[in-house]
Amino acid sequence: MTQHYDDLWKLDHEHVMQTYGRQPVAFVRGDGTKLWDSEGKVYLDFLTGLATVSLGHAHPAVADAIADQARTLVHVSNLYLNDQQPRLAERIDLLLTSATGTPGQVFFANSGAEANECAIKLARRYGQSSGGPERYHVLSAYNSFHGRTLTTLAATGQPQKQETFQPLPSGFRQVEFADVDALAAAMDERVCAVLLEPVQGEGGVQPAPPGYLEAVRALCDEREALLMIDEVQTGLGRTGRWFGFEHSGDVRPDVVTLAKALGNGMPIGACWARRDVAGAFKPGDHATTFGGQPLAARAALAVLDVMEHENVAARATEQGKRLMVGLADLTQVKDVRGLGLLIAAELVDGLAAGPVAASCLDHGLVVNAVTPTSLRFAPPLLVTAEEIDAGIAILKEVLDGQHP
Ligand SMILES: *Cc1c(COP(=O)(O)O)cnc(C)c1O
Repeated sequence: MTQHYDDLWKLDHEHVMQTYGRQPVAFVRGDGTKLWDSEGKVYLDFLTGLATVSLGHAHPAVADAIADQARTLVHVSNLYLNDQQPRLAERIDLLLTSATGTPGQVFFANSGAEANECAIKLARRYGQSSGGPERYHVLSAYNSFHGRTLTTLAATGQPQKQETFQPLPSGFRQVEFADVDALAAAMDERVCAVLLEPVQGEGGVQPAPPGYLEAVRALCDEREALLMIDEVQTGLGRTGRWFGFEHSGDVRPDVVTLAKALGNGMPIGACWARRDVAGAFKPGDHATTFGGQPLAARAALAVLDVMEHENVAARATEQGKRLMVGLADLTQVKDVRGLGLLIAAELVDGLAAGPVAASCLDHGLVVNAVTPTSLRFAPPLLVTAEEIDAGIAILKEVLDGQHP
């Protein structure tokens, strides 16, 4: 029995910690690109839980896999093997072996932050075993986002998110994104790893400029630091390639983290590392109760099956072009950026993205204000051309009614 928004709002404000600035809607059902709220209103979802439900809501193959596995085996301890986790690890490793040219191994977590937490612990372990106890610093970029645990917050280059939680774990420094010289200047012998997003997602959908990641790779080779690419938002077809770093030339990351799209909404994260790097972890070094449990792993296997069969990366390229062209056509949009189906539209001066996103929601289109002046679009990778056009039509109607 679905409750109405006002009742849900009251329960939320009474009993849920108020850490989110939420929009005034409660979703109760989804199907593909569509969402329904508690009052029965239908929406086009061009955000997919922040690039998470990449195959669309309630995808039948994923739903069947989850339901079947729920009746078979949901969870066993990582003290024992289960029949899903190693198969998923093989699939992810094959994808990353072909993208990097190097075989690796995977650790499973439950979120993006935890996948990055694993990467950071692994980098320290590897760095200290090869470079001594002082080699534990991790360099990342300003404007980045790597998660909200204390350690991933320390790696997240957004001082306003960090301020209220000092002191943060030590050994983290940030430099300007896309500035190779700044990175080179910071790369002393204490640095065990560089952690970067191929497209800064939360930072406003800012793709790495051509040549940047390749230069970072060369620098990491020269200074013996690991290159760790955070693909939590960009990974698994979203940008038009399996991985965001594949838009660059010779990057060959040593460590890659995944999460959002991996379970199509089921909580799962993964940290992949080149085999010799992964070998720095010994039994007992790292663990989690839920990571790689049968239910989440089975869901992720179904997700990868659909992604392969439907060739979602190619679809993201095709529909991404259509969306970009449609957005660029709007008079109130001054600039469009992004890769594949991870796109931001910069609004003309005087238009604030927050009120525009709120008005879109009112008109049945889910998007978010990724910066105060730009909107983010991350529709399902299986979105149709008709849905893209319908979404743009709603946005056009909203923008035409805005008065800066
Ligand atoms: C969302 C995100 C994270 C954090 O993932 P959670 O599942 O929220 O912990 C980390 N890195 C990037 C690039 C992200 O977009």
